[in-house]
Amino acid sequence: MNRYLCLILFCCLVPFHIAAQDNDNAQSEEPRLRLYTPASVPSPKVYGQEYYVSDPDGILRPTLIDSLNRVCHSLYRTVEVEMAVVLIGGFDEDNWWAVDFCQELFNGWGIGGAERNTGVLLFFSLGTRDIRIHTGYGMEGLLPDAVCDMIIDDNIESLSAGDYNAGIWGIACEIADQLLTKEAKEELLLGWTPKRYNSEDDLIYIYLYLSLIMLIVMTVVVLRKCDKISKASFDKRPDLITGSENLQNGLGCLSLLFPLTLPFLFMKYRKQRQSLSDLPYTCPSCGNEMKRMPADTVEQIGSETDKIENKLHIFRFDFWKCPSCGEVHTARFRDKTYDRYQDCKNCGEHALKYVEANVKKQPTYHERGEGNKIYVCAVCGHKTFVPYSIPSLYEREQQRIREQLRETARRSSYSSGSSRSSGSSGSWGGGRSGGGGAGRKF
Ligand SMILES: [Zn+2]
Ligand SMILES: [Zn+2]
Repeated sequence: MNRYLCLILFCCLVPFHIAAQDNDNAQSEEPRLRLYTPASVPSPKVYGQEYYVSDPDGILRPTLIDSLNRVCHSLYRTVEVEMAVVLIGGFDEDNWWAVDFCQELFNGWGIGGAERNTGVLLFFSLGTRDIRIHTGYGMEGLLPDAVCDMIIDDNIESLSAGDYNAGIWGIACEIADQLLTKEAKEELLLGWTPKRYNSEDDLIYIYLYLSLIMLIVMTVVVLRKCDKISKASFDKRPDLITGSENLQNGLGCLSLLFPLTLPFLFMKYRKQRQSLSDLPYTCPSCGNEMKRMPADTVEQIGSETDKIENKLHIFRFDFWKCPSCGEVHTARFRDKTYDRYQDCKNCGEHALKYVEANVKKQPTYHERGEGNKIYVCAVCGHKTFVPYSIPSLYEREQQRIREQLRETARRSSYSSGSSRSSGSSGSWGGGRSGGGGAGRKF
């Protein structure tokens, strides 16, 4: 299984630069063995982020170092485990045990991420004949000591026989195998995702983040609006409810942009807005909760103006009565015909309506006519005359011709459909080829 995986990793990755390590003449000459301290082992990261193998004495074949770097890098990309592979000529055994050497080297370099400690150090010392797998805190569950021991055991024969390339490769692959099982991946990826290399993924995250921010911001806006409306007085609240329709429409538009979060807020707000006019007022005199009076109250205690406006559906009236002190207040909402009326300059009510237009002077072919638009107030009966000018017959004729031309143009563009006029320049459709196809000589 592990050999199979290594073969795949080996074959499918494109060769890249061999690390400029001084091991070009490995195997052919006796390696120059030196004694190291943890501080004097050269870090492979000086060559770049994709280098994980330090072999300053040239113990391994350069091509194998390449392969090891790739295995380590794919481990990092898949589960973000950093595996360092260190091969040295030796160290002073009077000063160090292998385990202490590894510990100091591991922490000195800081192998594996600082948060999760998913680092592994594969350590080999030729002079002292040490082989060791040193794990970070975050790896102890997936690479327990017994498993590390087993992996070394599997490859110890190669190492004893002096085939260090095979031994190190075998160990590295078995470690990678161990960390790339389904269970290991799940454990390593639990509550955490590897670093993204794909900018599209980044965009998705940014979008999700924005959606969330939008939801929070709009929730605050909506809550403040609702709070303001519920605390408003009798004469303010109806207008605030009417005006808050803008916020509702805005929220509706934003819902299209952020369909993951905002539609829920939009629905909630729409419902809330409807119920806000039913929200009981607090009595301005005694502070008790007021009760809404029956719908026909306007006919009994409303003023004449109220009755007229209610009947014409310019306004809808809500009467609220305090059960404790008996105080009565009116809330007036715009009703369905509100927009057809204007403010009356005589009585100040919103009850002025266009009735008819009279003609004082008929238009001729070249001269405009004159007339008055007559508005009557439904409350006080006051008549308002607004002068207007009537287009001449010539102007009307021109207008009719323009409309006909527009209509003809519209029809012809429909009937011609997608066909193009022959005079305009053209271009290819913009298709692309991926290099597919075949050819031969004859
Ligand atoms: Zn009261
Ligand atoms: Zn009036």
